[in-house]
Amino acid sequence: MNVISKIIRAVRHERDMRRAPLRVEFVLSDYCNLNCKGCTHYSPLAPKEFEPLETLSRTMSHIGQVAGKDISKAYLIGGETLLYPHLEEAMSLLRKNFPTQELYIFTNGLMIPRMSDSFWDSARNNDIIVVITRYPIKFDYDSAIELCRSKGVRTEVFADRSETQTFFRYALDPKGCRNRSIAHLKCDNRGCLSVIGDKLYPCSISGCVKHLNNAFATKFEHRPGDWLNVEDIRSAADIRRLRDNPVPFCSYCILPPKSVSHSPSQRKIEEWVENS
Ligand code: SF4
Ligand code: SF4
Repeated sequence: MNVISKIIRAVRHERDMRRAPLRVEFVLSDYCNLNCKGCTHYSPLAPKEFEPLETLSRTMSHIGQVAGKDISKAYLIGGETLLYPHLEEAMSLLRKNFPTQELYIFTNGLMIPRMSDSFWDSARNNDIIVVITRYPIKFDYDSAIELCRSKGVRTEVFADRSETQTFFRYALDPKGCRNRSIAHLKCDNRGCLSVIGDKLYPCSISGCVKHLNNAFATKFEHRPGDWLNVEDIRSAADIRRLRDNPVPFCSYCILPPKSVSHSPSQRKIEEWVENS
């Protein structure tokens, strides 16, 4: 591909990214019952902690009120969402605050055979789509999908990571001197707006980085502009600005991500950090 073709492709990609409908992810926990190398929520390093329901209620309510009509999809995400202790309440809150949107809960699926009737009732009554990612582990995903359907709950497969080269490794450069605009242009992760605590981040790579810093004493810092306080958001335009423009944290990102095979984490720094 010559240079002009590359530029045209980049311009079109950027236009499509900016035109894409808004979607917002509410992070319930970064803790997970799987242990994937290079996880973009740093789950292998995350403690067993869960977002308080009161915080979720506050952030969902505010974003729903000021920007809900411009948001097409909202997600509950982890870590492993099905480990969240107040899951039924979280699903009801999501529907209450995003009454007309498509709503999803992401899961690696492992807990599906063990979910209670109250979970299935809440998922069905709130019309939440259960989105399953397949991993190359010993687990009967087809039966889990069939179980969702038998409970009257809509389900989708997000990605089949059981094939080779289907996992993406987003690495960070601790020097933080990369061109943030170029990194942002190359980033497909930037639409994954993540609400963590009372803040909205453009992605989990930035929003969850405290787990990396805590595990390895790295110093990936947030600077002004890296997030929005949810209570300061006045409209969907504020959220779009965060999504569509580079933030200081982008200067840590080595992009595009490498396409790799899925493998278990050894909890080593080089799984997430290059040039350390
Ligand atoms: S299942 Fe998902 S959240 Fe859990 S460790 Fe793997 S990539 Fe991370
Ligand atoms: S910090 Fe910026 S470049 Fe890095 S993953 Fe997030 S949005 Fe993409």
